[in-house]
Amino acid sequence: MKILIVDDEPFVLKVLHRQLSSLTNLQIVSCDSVCVALAELAADSAKISLIFCDLQMPEIDGIEFVRQLGALHYDKGLVLVSGEDTRTLETAERLALAHKLQFLGAIQKPATPEQLQQMLDRASSICSPMPPRAARKKYGAEDLRQAIAAGHLENFYQPKVELATGRVAGVETLVRWRHPDDGLIFPDQFITLAEEHGLIDDLSRVVLTAALIQTRQWLAAGLDLKVAVNVSMNNFNDVKFPDFIASTADKAGVPLTNLILEITESRLMKDPLSALDIITRLRLKRIKLSIDDFGTGHSSLTQLRELPFDELKVDRSFVHGAWRNDAIRPILEASLTMARQLGMKTVAEGPEDREDWDFLKAAGCDLAQGYFIAKPMSGSEVLGWIGAWELRRQELM
Ligand code: C2E
Ligand code: CA
Ligand code: CA
Repeated sequence: MKILIVDDEPFVLKVLHRQLSSLTNLQIVSCDSVCVALAELAADSAKISLIFCDLQMPEIDGIEFVRQLGALHYDKGLVLVSGEDTRTLETAERLALAHKLQFLGAIQKPATPEQLQQMLDRASSICSPMPPRAARKKYGAEDLRQAIAAGHLENFYQPKVELATGRVAGVETLVRWRHPDDGLIFPDQFITLAEEHGLIDDLSRVVLTAALIQTRQWLAAGLDLKVAVNVSMNNFNDVKFPDFIASTADKAGVPLTNLILEITESRLMKDPLSALDIITRLRLKRIKLSIDDFGTGHSSLTQLRELPFDELKVDRSFVHGAWRNDAIRPILEASLTMARQLGMKTVAEGPEDREDWDFLKAAGCDLAQGYFIAKPMSGSEVLGWIGAWELRRQELM
């Protein structure tokens, strides 16, 4: 495996090269321009496990390089090294994340050995190869209809953990489509399709039913887990939805107080009033409601005033890296304070490392759900995971 360092200044290249050589045995390749780096990537991108890149370069600068890395679907670590101020680095970071790059951090020049070591550690912990997602093939409504009927939808579950105690409070249900030819397909490739073609009611019913049956099995094994299920605003056009939930939970033998429905704010905004009736009936049945992806829409505050939410999930774009990012930390902190004042539980989505965890804990957030704790897993893996978590939990407390 190789590390690429990209900087137009020969002196900086030399120093970085020497610093990194004393910290790692990986081969280090110095590139004095983006063109040279792109040629290295073209020759053998699979061998490159980490890139340190300067922002300010003549001809093609670091920002353009970030864009090209995104286009190349480069999926290993990226570190930005620059003499620019932190706000500029933060903007570059947002760009890297928007291009879905594994951004490990930004370092101001001159880099210290400790900073470089930290990036190398992150590269080895975070940059495990991304789960192979099925190629982004387009599916038709008929394919999805058949998949639902054939039982090809499968629930995965991602743990939600109390920051203060490390106790596992519950799980969020995340649906996947196990395609006989294409493998596992993620919801971003079929939820909108389901909403557009009137399949979301069927999909949600299948997901909810399986989640409640799974919850019953956990209860029987002595695990009292709250189960969260994502619902679409379109589910609230179906007046029978609350009764369907109640009767399914009853058949499964799961108290409705164990169920949380996660509602996305952006979908909420379209027609909040017509949904109010159904949402109020869900509340009367003691089903908990969670406002999902908080912070990404435009009238979050209005929604909070009008709908009776129990829980607020801060979107992950305000969570990962908030501890070192002056632009997002105030938004995270303000969201937590506001939720607390409204008597809501707070969940931070997407903590990916120990720094995120420590920061959220200190900020008084109630629950965390993210890759630092666990990636989504199949229902049968949850029990085993909880055993392993108990050991890790002690280290974190
Ligand atoms: P969401 O509700 O915001 O779910 C969280 C997503 O973030 C999941 O993606 C999860 O795998 C991912 N995630 C969790 N922790 C981390 C982290 O630390 N870092 C990063 N980078 N990502 C993390 P997934 O499973 O691909 O789901 C995508 C979206 O699809 C969900 O976003 C949800 O809006 C929707 N969805 C999933 N299942 C259902 C469903 O049954 N019904 C409906 N209507 N929507 C669903
Ligand atoms: Ca969710
Ligand atoms: Ca989210």
